[in-house]
Amino acid sequence: MRSINPYTQELIAEYEEHRLEEVQLFITKADRAQHLWANNPLSERVSYMRALALTLRSQKAELARLMTSEMGKPISESLAEVEKCAWLAEYLSEESHLGLDSRDVITEARHSYVTYEALGLILAVMPWNFPLWQVLQLSLPAIVAGNGILLKHASNVWGTALSIEKLFIQAGFPDHLFTTLLLTSKSIEPVVAHPAVRAVSLTGSESAGKSIAATAGRHLKKAVLELGGSDAFLVLPDAELQEAAVTAMQSRMLNSGQVCISAKRFLIHEDIFDDFVDAQIDLLSQLSIGDPMLPTTHIGPLARPELLLQLEAQLQASLQMGATCIYGGKRFNSHPQILEPSLLIDIQPDMPVWSEETFGPVMPLMRFKTLEEGIRLANDSRFGLGASIWTGDLELAKAILPKIEAGSVFVNSMVKSDPRLPFGGIKHSGFGRELSVEGIKEFVNIKTNWIN
Ligand code: NAP
Repeated sequence: MRSINPYTQELIAEYEEHRLEEVQLFITKADRAQHLWANNPLSERVSYMRALALTLRSQKAELARLMTSEMGKPISESLAEVEKCAWLAEYLSEESHLGLDSRDVITEARHSYVTYEALGLILAVMPWNFPLWQVLQLSLPAIVAGNGILLKHASNVWGTALSIEKLFIQAGFPDHLFTTLLLTSKSIEPVVAHPAVRAVSLTGSESAGKSIAATAGRHLKKAVLELGGSDAFLVLPDAELQEAAVTAMQSRMLNSGQVCISAKRFLIHEDIFDDFVDAQIDLLSQLSIGDPMLPTTHIGPLARPELLLQLEAQLQASLQMGATCIYGGKRFNSHPQILEPSLLIDIQPDMPVWSEETFGPVMPLMRFKTLEEGIRLANDSRFGLGASIWTGDLELAKAILPKIEAGSVFVNSMVKSDPRLPFGGIKHSGFGRELSVEGIKEFVNIKTNWIN
């Protein structure tokens, strides 16, 4: 497997895929490590999390450079990603945050209670867009609950995948508790089928989610899916317009537009539409585009060449259907993987930039007239990951919240993941939760204990 720098187009490294016999051996070792790990008391398991936070911080610069060279995100964002991972590890080092204490239930038994016990090995199939955060967001809660992790990372970030395995060793975790398997998606099924593998969690596209869910179903394994999104960003006429415009731009342009929970469908009330457009053009014109290794860069290359081709096809098809591009819309300096931030108006719901997930710096804006129309359009998507609502009337916001079909709804704020809150979607954005007590309990046996 070749790892190519998306900005310089240079070959970074070549990796050999693990052979099936090697993989079987890794799983045997991981299984043994997980059983020993699960026998440790919770207080001991969480103590490793603090060491992991320290290790992450001590290697922040190297990890950030590796991620940026492999998948092209601006270096300032790579550094912030490492810091967020350290925060997650620290958060999980407090036992009281985990919700894993046993729970007594009064029945006619002498003693009846519920315990939360590890499942075993969890296969984590992960995407390249947050190559460190996505892996740790799934793995750390599962590990404190007593599980072991087998990582199958996206094929363009195998350097980062191997570094993550090393991080666990350097932080003092038992060997093989976290194992990186260098596998392409075609070679996953024997891993899912292995009796020691008790569940699989995939973060990625809808098509990959359908495929892994079918594989998990064939082998009767639990599956958690964190898939794509096309989050609505709904701006009501009484919103703080400049703050909404800045947050809209940041949400859409973060990671050069390659974020599952970035806002992707912008619904702006007709009374403020023109002002919002002007503010957006002003903000986009201030972005610095180019080399992602420079600390001043906001927009870099897309991670893989085919992603830009796919995005351009969505853009072109939408323009042919009547959309108007009023800013950007072409490659930056003819770079093979950089698209200028692009602003589109005259949007209809069936246009690909609206009805499909766009994974890049493309911002379609649609007008709405009434609140009911705005809510209907926000929910008119096969995805249901997040949504952001902007209004000065917080009572109205509270009334709107239950009407929005999404896993997370943020008012006057950008949708973001947070170790303290559960994260996940509904509809085609997947099922199951990561983070918080709900995420920790995704991979446990909720056991009933009855003593007479
Ligand atoms: P992707 O192509 O679906 O790949 C994600 C992972 O799944 C990679 O490890 C990939 O391996 C593997 N994979 C692909 N096809 C597979 C199949 N048929 N069976 C089993 N595994 C398969 O997605 P991506 O391009 O890396 O990431 C972008 C997508 O992820 C977007 O849709 C984004 O919204 C979504 N995402 C969701 C979340 C969330 O939390 N909801 C977070 C981040 C990203 P290979 O690289 O070897 O193909």
